[in-house]
Amino acid sequence: MSARPELASFAAIDALTRGRLHAEPPAAPRGEFQRDRDRIVHSTAFRRLEYKTQVFVNHEGDHFRTRLTHSLEVAQIGRTIARLLNINEELTEAVSLAHDLGHTPFGHAGQDALNACMKDHGGFEHNLQSLRVVDRLEQRYAEFDGLNLCFETREGILKHCSLANARELGELGQRFLDRKQPSLEAQVANLADEIAYNNHDVDDGLRSGLISTDGLMQSRLFARHHDEVMAKYPQLSGRRKVHEIIRRMINTLILDLVATTRSSLEKAGVKSIEDVRNAPPLVGFSDEVRDLQHELKHYLRVNLYQHYQVMRMTSKAARIIQSLFGTFLNEPRLLSPGHQENVQRDGARAIADYIAGMTDRYAMREYRRIFGVEEIAGLF
Ligand code: MG
Repeated sequence: MSARPELASFAAIDALTRGRLHAEPPAAPRGEFQRDRDRIVHSTAFRRLEYKTQVFVNHEGDHFRTRLTHSLEVAQIGRTIARLLNINEELTEAVSLAHDLGHTPFGHAGQDALNACMKDHGGFEHNLQSLRVVDRLEQRYAEFDGLNLCFETREGILKHCSLANARELGELGQRFLDRKQPSLEAQVANLADEIAYNNHDVDDGLRSGLISTDGLMQSRLFARHHDEVMAKYPQLSGRRKVHEIIRRMINTLILDLVATTRSSLEKAGVKSIEDVRNAPPLVGFSDEVRDLQHELKHYLRVNLYQHYQVMRMTSKAARIIQSLFGTFLNEPRLLSPGHQENVQRDGARAIADYIAGMTDRYAMREYRRIFGVEEIAGLF
């Protein structure tokens, strides 16, 4: 095996990390970001992603993406890009694997519902919640709450943040106030997320039958690769055809992103991670491919995410979350003693933490336990 080439000067370097909230001995023989990645994989919140909805609720079919397989695809795409740009693969992987740790059950419907519930209590943002998971909610270490990750990993997890919240976050929030960027590794993870979900939602959407190949021909990105595949394999149909198209779309997006980013890096003349933070966003697609990507996104929004059958699922999910939240807020004594203590300390935020941590199936079970009349006599 050939030795790994030295990282570019603008990459995040383990030895130069801004460090952890609680000082710890070095991670050697692992690197610091490798340790972060490992801590994320071992966390409880990571395992819960298996039963959290991406678009289709988990029990609708065994082949649909869940938030866990989504996160793995993001990490894989992110690592490919990071390696091609000669930046820190492990940091990109860590940020990718952690980026959805704070996501509620039931996908975006869950996040919107919880945000509405928390309107008078500081709101709910899943990015901020992912940070809260790794900074506070995981309880695994003797000496600190959370996973005590490096600054660079936490900076990458906090993709967006309102200015009001940024002011509360000290060093980590400062970049939003100063309008600065995170590391290239974080910027890559962010776009790897977009590449992953656009493509796997095409795949899952077709599998579900809610969208069709004919409809998708409205998207030039899809149509271009569809025609390429059909020219080469005129007899191909079914799942193999879909996969041949999608793998080409992913490839096109990755190669465009890498080429465009390389030229932006060169133009900006960045030499260090500090230069990256002070520059405008440097990781991105060419104008042409960005338009194609937006067109596909728009198609998916109108035809898949807003499909009436998906809307029925999301509206039901929102009602489950609203009902649980309202009930726990009014009657905290329905919570187990540990959660009651958290509510005494953190008020409504502790209820949001509890609900955000639920998997889809746990939220449904909890809903039945509280509201299901057939279980009124059952203690378990
Ligand atoms: Mg994501």
